[in-house]
Amino acid sequence: MTLTIRDLSVAYDDVPAVRGVSLEVPDGQVLAVLGPSGCGKSTLLRGVAGLEQAVGEVAWDGEDVSRLPTHRRGFALMFQDGQLFDHLTVARNVGYALRLRRAGRAEERRRVEELLALVGLDGYADRLPRTLSGGERQRVALARSLAHQPRLLLLDEPLSALDAGLRRRLATDLRDILVRSGSTAVMVTHDHEEAFTVADRLAVMRDGLLVQEGPIDEVWRSP
Ligand code: ADP
Ligand code: ADP
Repeated sequence: MTLTIRDLSVAYDDVPAVRGVSLEVPDGQVLAVLGPSGCGKSTLLRGVAGLEQAVGEVAWDGEDVSRLPTHRRGFALMFQDGQLFDHLTVARNVGYALRLRRAGRAEERRRVEELLALVGLDGYADRLPRTLSGGERQRVALARSLAHQPRLLLLDEPLSALDAGLRRRLATDLRDILVRSGSTAVMVTHDHEEAFTVADRLAVMRDGLLVQEGPIDEVWRSP
């Protein structure tokens, strides 16, 4: 399955924020969208997700999903602040999607255990979010997004709220988790190092336009 974004534009009150962006994300790959604050990265992601009114095409292997609402596109979103349910335990947060699908208790427990192991949080099932560090919270948020078994994971500055040292460590872990779970993902970031650590491909935006795109080492080498 390849995600194709064709000629996508988003405007706020007739002021264009994303202008005719075309991109492809091959199956199992991670694309980082890099660029300065205000260049339209977040808007692009929200347009792809269906959270902003967009013009253009978003397609999976040629199947246009741009007219489907967010929850029917098969995407999962994760934000800078993971937005956990504060009154639910870690296990309940991660298992939330499974419960919505009415998975049985045994299946839920097994999947929650797998997901917690995947993100390095064995033994955290019964903790409440307020007892976790920022990095731990983002790991829970990631596990919760993966529980949806999304066709595409959309990550909006997932590590930006963390301090620099932790951000670097978690970027390496994030890469590892995405590869091991076979996820196809688009990650928005303003941080070069984070993009290079996490992604296979890089798209560079400026003023709502895509200015460069390709495998990360090629984009990095070109002027
Ligand atoms: P980035 O994610 O690269 O920081 P954004 O996509 O958030 O950039 O913003 C792109 C442009 O769109 C900016 O000029 C921003 O001010 C504007 N913008 C973003 N969200 C809104 C909104 N809800 N209403 C009006 N303008 C917005
Ligand atoms: P309930 O009794 O309402 O199911 P629990 O808090 O006991 O509430 O468990 C909620 C769900 O979280 C369980 O269905 C289970 O799938 C999962 N869960 C609870 N504890 C663990 C654990 N230690 N490891 C993995 N999953 C767990």
